[in-house]
Amino acid sequence: MHPTVGYGQILLDVSDLPTRHNYLLALWQKDFERIMADWVAELGVPILRGREVEGFTQDDRGVVVDVTDGMSLRADYLVGCDGGRSLIRRTAGIGFPGVDASVSFMIAEVVMAEEPTVGVRPEGGGIGPIDRDGGGRSYYRVVLREDRVDHESEPTLDDLCRALVAAYGTDFGAHSPRWISRFDDTSRQAASYRSGRVLLAGDAAHVHGPFGGQGLNTGVQDAVNLGWKLAQVVHGHSPDTILDTYHAERHPVAARVLRNTMAQAALNNPDERHLALRDTVTELLQMDEPRRRIAAEITGLDINYDLGGGHPLLGRRMPDLDLLTTDGPMRVFELLHEARPVLLDLGEPGRFDVSPWTPRVRLVEAQFTGRWELPVLGEVPAPSAVAIRPDGHVAWVGDAPDPEPARALRAWFGSSRGTARPAGGAGANG
Ligand SMILES: Cc1cc2nc3c(=O)[nH]c(=O)nc-3n(C[C@H](O)[C@H](O)[C@H](O)COP(=O)(O)OP(=O)(O)OC[C@H]3O[C@@H](n4cnc5c(N)ncnc54)[C@H](O)[C@@H]3O)c2cc1C
Repeated sequence: MHPTVGYGQILLDVSDLPTRHNYLLALWQKDFERIMADWVAELGVPILRGREVEGFTQDDRGVVVDVTDGMSLRADYLVGCDGGRSLIRRTAGIGFPGVDASVSFMIAEVVMAEEPTVGVRPEGGGIGPIDRDGGGRSYYRVVLREDRVDHESEPTLDDLCRALVAAYGTDFGAHSPRWISRFDDTSRQAASYRSGRVLLAGDAAHVHGPFGGQGLNTGVQDAVNLGWKLAQVVHGHSPDTILDTYHAERHPVAARVLRNTMAQAALNNPDERHLALRDTVTELLQMDEPRRRIAAEITGLDINYDLGGGHPLLGRRMPDLDLLTTDGPMRVFELLHEARPVLLDLGEPGRFDVSPWTPRVRLVEAQFTGRWELPVLGEVPAPSAVAIRPDGHVAWVGDAPDPEPARALRAWFGSSRGTARPAGGAGANG
């Protein structure tokens, strides 16, 4: 755990962000993927490993997906989470506009015969120790800025050693690579996150430089935004127009990530003018207001879906408050573990009736007397009630102009008789 996040190699203190997790959690992606895969397995969702999607067709009734070995799968919807070169995106004919790479980095895990110079380099990258293998050999993670961005083949150990010599004057006797790869700052975003019954999430929808460590976070939040909406459509609780809110909400989020990673790529340029720019930005980011703003953007804590305005909480991530409920003390995020919408009533008990939405919407009556503090905005007026979507964003706030939650609950979570109205542009208060 680190109390800082990086922005163009400038470290920003995040310890005063109003969140329980005011730190950067350094978790290897392979561990993160294992944890997620275990969870998916617990939920009983089948994963077909070792098979490739070769193509698909879609019509009004569904999607037919062709998989290797002549297998074909039928589904109501197909979500392409197949990375930056997404076959699903290309087959759906969705454009991927953006800009080509301006910088390329080699990345590797190797053993070094000599003790290397550990630490970050002014032009980005550097060397850091990772772990020891069974034979006691120390592995190092090496990231090196390359002098070209166009490459026709994967890098080799010889390429890595040459790059080490160019950067450090020695290759430290690098040998036994676990893997060697490269990445760059190509910045592209799908023109649309939906084409009929096909949707895109993760790197299939957006690629950018890895500066600030935002790609996986953004992709996982795409999936969280889309998952509950798809479930409602598949179960017949919502019309499929609710899926259009996925693009409307998530496209602007990744567009901001592309903007800030492109800015970081510029700040990382090692020439004199860009170093002067970085010094200037470093000075600005010593001030609390700019630091908090950029830190909230890099961590994704400032995400605000446009649900029509009104109370500042509307569309924002619900804070994880310590509540006193009729079942005892409870945190807001515990209420979300079932991935069901929650109508949280903090006023006089018995005011609201959610029986038309039972069991989909859970009514929780609770007390909270503390401050409502949001990232970037600071303290906001305490609402008397909020409706929280399964993705943790606030869909309705129980104050003027719409003191009754029924309209918002119908718009976002359908109705008991399955006559759900489209939620598109459903500014619950607006
Ligand atoms: C050096 C580096 C550091 C990074 N650090 C961070 C960080 O600190 N924090 C962060 O949030 N993000 C980070 N990222 C970004 C993060 O790694 C990516 O955003 C994330 O891996 C994207 O996940 P994804 O599942 O969308 O795509 P991918 O990880 O690309 O996964 C796509 C999957 O689809 C499979 N696939 C592709 N085509 C097919 C097909 N036709 N049929 C079947 N399967 C297919 C692939 O095999 C792969 O398993 C970093 C990236 C790099 C390069």
